[in-house]
Parts: sequence; C-alpha cells; structure tokens
Amino acid sequence: MPGYELFGAAERKEVNDVLETGILMRYGFDGARQGIWKAKELEAEICKTFGTAHTQLLSSGTAALTTAMAALGIGAGDEVIMPTFTFVASFEAVLSVGAIPVPVDIDETLTLNPAAVAAAITPRTKAVMPVHMCGSMAQLDELKAICTANNIFLLEDACQAIGGTYKGKHLGTIGDAGTFSFDFVKIITCAEGGAVMTNNKETYAKADQYTDHGHDHMGKDRGADLHPYLGYNFRISELHAAVGLAQVRRLDEFLTLQKKNHSIIYNALKQVEGVTFRVIPDPSGDTGSFVSFFLPTEEMTRDAVAAFAAEGIGGNFYWYDNNWHYIRKWQHLQSGSWMNRFYDEQKKQVLHYANQAFPVSDAIMSRCISSSISLVWTEEQAQERGNKMADVLKKIIVGATV
Ligand SMILES: *Cc1c(COP(=O)(O)O)cnc(C)c1O
Repeated sequence: MPGYELFGAAERKEVNDVLETGILMRYGFDGARQGIWKAKELEAEICKTFGTAHTQLLSSGTAALTTAMAALGIGAGDEVIMPTFTFVASFEAVLSVGAIPVPVDIDETLTLNPAAVAAAITPRTKAVMPVHMCGSMAQLDELKAICTANNIFLLEDACQAIGGTYKGKHLGTIGDAGTFSFDFVKIITCAEGGAVMTNNKETYAKADQYTDHGHDHMGKDRGADLHPYLGYNFRISELHAAVGLAQVRRLDEFLTLQKKNHSIIYNALKQVEGVTFRVIPDPSGDTGSFVSFFLPTEEMTRDAVAAFAAEGIGGNFYWYDNNWHYIRKWQHLQSGSWMNRFYDEQKKQVLHYANQAFPVSDAIMSRCISSSISLVWTEEQAQERGNKMADVLKKIIVGATV
C-alpha cells in the first residue's frame, strides 16, 4: 500500500526544484517562482492519469472529503449514507458540514451493501458515500443506479484506492465527486495531502475556492480576487505537491510491484480450506494493497490474529477491534461539545445512528483479516510469508474442526 517505501531520487529532485526558488506557496509570487508550479502541475497530472476533467489539491484527504461535501452543497440536516467500515475521517467530514452520517451495513465487498443503502433513503438523503476500503471497490453500478433514481449525489471516498479501477474507469472519477488522500501511508504520498476530483465545472470551482478562503483565483493578484463563496485554508504547499508529483508519475511502478506480491500471498492463502476472500466487484481493478480474507468463525479469526503476531508476521489488520476503522469503537461520535452545533432534532438523529447495532456488519468484520502488501518484498520473501500464513491458518482451521 505505501508509496513511502519507495521514496527516492525522483521525489528529492521535485522537492529541490521548489527549494531552489524558496516559493513554498502554491499561489502568487509569479516572478520569484521562476516557472515552478508543482501544485498546478500535479493537478494536471492527476487529471491525465486518472481521467477526470478537474482536480483540486488540498492539505489532506479529510479536507478533501469536507470540501467535496461543501462543494456539492451538502449541509445542515442533510443525510449522507455511508458504510460502517471506513476510516473515521469519512464521518468527521460529514459532521463538519453539519450533515448527518447515516451508517448502513456492509457486505462481503467490505463496503456498502446496495440493498441496505436503498432501504436507508429518506427525503433528506443528499448523498451516498461508498468507501473503497483497502484498495478495492464498491458495487458502483448498483450504487450509481440508486443515486440516479433518487436524484442524490454519489461521492466516492477513494482515499485508500488510488490507481484502482472499476470497469475501466478510475475509482474516484465515477461519482459526482471523488477524493484521494496522500497521507504518509497511502498508495501515493505527499507526506500530507488530498485531492477532490470531479467532471463538473461548478463543483470544481466551489472546491477550488473553499480550499483558499473563497478566493476565486481570477484576479491579477490575490488582493484583486473576488470571493463568491465562503472558504477556509485547506491549501496544499508546493513542497508537498512536489513529492506527490514524483509519486504519481511512479504509480504504475508501484501498482505492478503491489499486484505481483498480492498474487503471491493470495495464491498461498487460497490453498487453505475454509478461508474465503473479500468479494471484489471488478477483480482486474483491485490495487492489490491488501489481501482481505474471512475465517469461518470469530474465534478462529482471533486465534489467527494472535498466532500471526506470535510468529512475527506483521501487517495483519483485525479491523473489528480497531479504534479508527469500524463503527463499533466510535463512542466519541456520541458526546462532546461539538454536538452543540446540532439542533435538538438533529442531535437525536446523530445519536440514534451512532447507537445503532449492526449485527450483519459485525458478523462480517469479526471474521475478517486484511493483510497488507509491501512494495519492497522480494518474490522469495513474499512466498515465504504466504507459506507461513497458510500454515498458521491451516493449523487453526483443522484444530477447530477435529
Ligand atoms: C486516509 C483516509 C482518509 C483521510 O485522509 P487523510 O489524508 O489522512 O486526512 C479518509 N478516508 C479514508 C478511507 C482513508 O483511508
């Protein structure tokens, strides 16, 4: 998954271009910057690489989701349908614009179950947010059909799925808007950064202005800009964009290594009777950043997680117990002074959703392990890891059934 594993000469060269000029800000200073515009260049590169009309860079993926929400006009009291399994940032972004996150069950794709989405739609639903978790995708045709039929937005959180595709189109470019994160552990990193992608010119214009105090970026200098929309400071710096530019140009190199190591681990685990795998709607579009698999019971899964740790096989995530990725541990959504931003009726709604039980999601997540794939393993190392993991799993499954 992480581009940081291959940080090198190309990244240093791009950063050095910026250091030579000393202009670390992405706007203005036209003369002094000597033609160096890394953020602009990265936006153009993202449009070209992923096939989208417009890209707005930001300081993080969380800022990207918040900005996308604002640019689509999602606000106070609007409902956004989202999966129980994601990174908590997706929920933070919805709450930050005063909207109400409506969590619904996932299925074995590890993201939105389309039937659960359809059942959760109310007159106040404004958007559906599939989260392409762990490098693979949601059932986008089904979700798009639901959105079209109900005249609501499809906003893709593709923060973990940079370079993934669905039926030939890049994840993050299929909905009304999509977001990437370039934080330090993502497929491509800027150290910190994010992007909003959209094919809608107006959504892009609003996103652009929202990230920079509402500047319309049409004046001859910053002081002459108008501010048709409210905005904040979610800008990316030239230094961060420079790192991202080198990394985006290496995307194919990263994905090739990742997919190669992914298939070695996948093929090793496939030999183990009783292990099943995450359902991937378009297997050819998987980025390969994780192999996510299921064991028959929660108990066996917990035993496997413990045995991997005991054997020193790192990078195996049990999201069900994780504080950041699964709704079960998000008590902080239920309290705190930030709740005061809601009117009483909305507060009740937020609490209602945050307190809901999700037995269907629990039954899936409690049996799921996601094993992260490194870019720097040799073929032998990957094979050895796969064999060790398979041995551990066989022992546990056979042991439990005799
Ligand atoms: C990382 C991540 C984010 C947030 O990105 P940051 O750049 O860390 O703010 C949002 N959603 C998902 C699914 C993520 O994995």
